[in-house]
Amino acid sequence: MARPLTAQISLDALRHNYQLAQHWSASAQTLAVIKADAYGHGAVQAAQALQDLAPAFAVACIEEAETLYQAGIQRPILLLEGFFSAEELPLILARGYWMVIHSHWQLRDLMAFCQAQGVQNLPPIWLKVDTGMHRLGFEPQALDSVIQTLTQQLARPSLTLMTHLARADELDQPMTTQQCSTLLQHPAIAHYPKSLANSAGIMHWPTTHQDWTRPGILLYGASPLPLEHPKTQALRPVMQLTSRLISVREIAAGEAVGYGGRFIATQPTRIGVVACGYGDGYPRQAKEGTPVWIRGQKVPLAGRVSMDLLTVDLTQVPSAQAGDPVELWGQHLAVNEVAQHCDTISYTLLTGLLPRVSRDHVSVLPESTEF
Ligand SMILES: *Cc1c(COP(=O)(O)O)cnc(C)c1O
Repeated sequence: MARPLTAQISLDALRHNYQLAQHWSASAQTLAVIKADAYGHGAVQAAQALQDLAPAFAVACIEEAETLYQAGIQRPILLLEGFFSAEELPLILARGYWMVIHSHWQLRDLMAFCQAQGVQNLPPIWLKVDTGMHRLGFEPQALDSVIQTLTQQLARPSLTLMTHLARADELDQPMTTQQCSTLLQHPAIAHYPKSLANSAGIMHWPTTHQDWTRPGILLYGASPLPLEHPKTQALRPVMQLTSRLISVREIAAGEAVGYGGRFIATQPTRIGVVACGYGDGYPRQAKEGTPVWIRGQKVPLAGRVSMDLLTVDLTQVPSAQAGDPVELWGQHLAVNEVAQHCDTISYTLLTGLLPRVSRDHVSVLPESTEF
C-alpha cells in the first residue's frame, strides 16, 4: 500500500469561493490570485477550474506565468511584481503578460527598452502606489510624473492604479481607511481604474472594492478574518490533508513520546502514530494539543512532530486503531485553527505543503470516513 498522506483539493469549493468573492464585491472585476502554485493547490488545475469565471489571473513572476501559458491558459496574467530584470521584457511582451510597475528603476528600464526597440504599445500596466505598507510602490507625490512619463512615451497605455493593504485583517484598524483615502483622493486617479482589495478588503472593507479586487487566500477557503465571522463561515475549505493512523500503542504513566520527550504521559495513554511530518510541510512548531481529526473528533497532538510522522493522544478514542483515516486539516478542522496552534497563519501551512504530498484534484471532498 502507498503512503496514505494526500491533499485532496475540491475544485467545486474553489469555484464556490471565487463566486462568493464576486458576490461580495459585485461592482468590481475579480482577479484570481494563484501565485505560489495557487497557495499550494496546483496553479494549473486552479486556473483551469476558474478560467470560465475569472477575467484574469495574478502570479508572482514570469516563471509562474509561463507554467500557466504552457498549460494552455488563455486568460490575461498579471505579474504582481512585474519584471525583476529587463531581460524578461521580450518574453513578457511576446506573451502579453500584464505587469505591475512598482519602482523607479523598473520605469527607467521599461522606457529604455521601449525606446531602443521602437515599442509603442505595451500590455496593460498596473502602477503600484505605496499608501502605507512601505514595501513596494511609488510614493503618492511621484505618481503624476510616472503617469506623465508613460503617457508621453507610449501610445495610449492601459493603466490601472493599485495599492496593497497592510492591515485589512484587523477589523477595527484605521489604517485601511487611511490607505484608501490616500489612493482615492489622489488628484491623478480620476481617469484610471483602481485596485486595492485583497481577501480581507473584499470581506470587510467595501470602499476598497473599486474596479478590480485581488482575492487570494479566500479562494482557498481559509479566511483572513476570525473563524466566527459570518463571511468566514460561508467559505468552503478547498484543501483536505488526510492520512491514516499507522500504529497504536499503550504507554504507562511517566513514559515520554518522541524526540526530546516533550510529551510525558500523566496516566496510562494510548498513542497513535500518523503518517505525516515536517518532511511533508506539517509545521514542526506545532504545540502540544494541536488538533487532529480522528473518528469524528478532535484529538490532541502529543509530542514533537518528526520528519515523516506525528503522534497523537488517543486516550479519549479507545476504538481508534491502525488504518483509521486522519484529517490534518480540511472540512472538519479549519486550517486556520491548526495555524493558530502553530503560531502561524493558514498561508504558510498551505503554501508550505511539500511536493512529497500527492495532490488529488476532485469535485467534492470526501467525508473523513471515505478516504
Ligand atoms: C498575494 C497578493 C494578494 C492576495 O492576498 P490575500 O491576502 O491572499 O487575499 C493581493 N494582492 C497582491 C499584490 C498580492 O501580492
